[in-house]
Amino acid sequence: MDFLPINLRLRDQPVVLVGAGVVAARKARFLLGAGADLTVIAPEQDTQFRALASEHSLVWHQRPYGEGDLSNAILVIAATPDRSVNESVHREATSRGIPVNVVDSPDLCSFIFPAIVDRSPLTVAISSSGASPVLARSVRSRIEAMLPAATADIARFGQLHRDRIREVGASENERRIIWEQIINGPIAQLILSNRWQAAEQALAELLDGHKGLPPGEVYLIGAGPGDPELMTFKALRLLQRADIVLHDRLVNPDIVAMARRDADKLYVGKRRSDHSVPQERINELLVELAQEGKCVARLKGGDPFVFGRGGEEIELLAQKNIPFQVVPGITAGNAAACYAGIPLTHRDHAQSVRFVTGHTKDGKLHHRWEEFLSETETLVFYMGLVGLAIICRELIAHGRSPHTPVALIERATSPQQRLLRGTLSSIEALVESAQPQAPTLIIVGKVVSLADELRWYGSG
Ligand code: SAH
Repeated sequence: MDFLPINLRLRDQPVVLVGAGVVAARKARFLLGAGADLTVIAPEQDTQFRALASEHSLVWHQRPYGEGDLSNAILVIAATPDRSVNESVHREATSRGIPVNVVDSPDLCSFIFPAIVDRSPLTVAISSSGASPVLARSVRSRIEAMLPAATADIARFGQLHRDRIREVGASENERRIIWEQIINGPIAQLILSNRWQAAEQALAELLDGHKGLPPGEVYLIGAGPGDPELMTFKALRLLQRADIVLHDRLVNPDIVAMARRDADKLYVGKRRSDHSVPQERINELLVELAQEGKCVARLKGGDPFVFGRGGEEIELLAQKNIPFQVVPGITAGNAAACYAGIPLTHRDHAQSVRFVTGHTKDGKLHHRWEEFLSETETLVFYMGLVGLAIICRELIAHGRSPHTPVALIERATSPQQRLLRGTLSSIEALVESAQPQAPTLIIVGKVVSLADELRWYGSG
């Protein structure tokens, strides 16, 4: 190890920064963030630096660096474009025994800045010992993704209650279990759901010893349209906490595989007219599993609240007072449009967009078609493949032009994605020959023609 990572307390400590350019501004931001008493020595300030100086209190000596400027400093940074100035700063700092960092000159540094993930009071510092700052930054972005912004709140919660937990008189093992609940368990989930008071209460009950097994919890997770990269960080985090995963037909198996290896996976998929597990049974199952103390992930395709019956699934949980979280997902309408190069709204073509179910009942669709006639509104039909003929016929019969562009996007965001284009009068014949399979989404409106120019994904 060439550099030992340590955490330095800089609050109100004198630090000297020589230089006031763009790079110096970046360093100054860190130093001020740590509460340093900052003195800047530079004949001129960059505009970024000036903005920083107006927000924070720092002392600026508007002149070049001179020998003796470092006499009071406990830490020094040189960030000037002039190598000879940087060398002089290095020489003085070294002779005074002050740690010094010279930007972009590893040979002149007695300390270096790590890449930082800041979830204060939790901080993560990543260093490649100067060997590859790009690698350090890439590792940082991976860690950033793993730590939700609210991790800071968990750290603060722990800080606030540390003494109380120490005084509770529990054994070391019991204390470890309490901390586990705060950091990874139900209390952490309450904090991450922005329910600080409930977290306080849960801790109080835990410390009073009133509580037995922590109750289970249900995460209703939108898994997005198929491409696993379109999951949110939150969806992934909660999926990986789950003891059991209930998933639908629309959820990509690669996403289910992202759950913990030891988690049970239960397929409760639904096909049109083949409900392998009836909806009521799914609702009950969620309650039963949570009552057994399990963390249950209910994975839904797209967004759980867009034609996903997510509302019904959590109604029973709410009635039974079982904690749950709902994670939005990218809905098929958004995803298919983006991957097909069809902006759902566009200043010149559409000012609004409407998501409509195309699911037929007894071969019929009961819509107020007269509401769907605006030329400047994009219509997005879910579950519309079977009812496509009715949709087109009704729209034309109610007055929409037969030339209105229509797109069918089959298996959007997957490598098998196909885009079929036509008009309200021609699309049916196209479907006859191309035979698209579910899931397929239908988009109706002028914006569809933009795909000519804006298509970018796949070949279809
Ligand atoms: N909750 C889901 C929608 C479920 S309804 C969501 O928000 O996306 C199921 C319908 O969604 C399908 O019939 C189809 O119209 C559409 N759909 C879902 N995934 C799709 C995909 N990858 N490509 C095209 N359409 C899709």
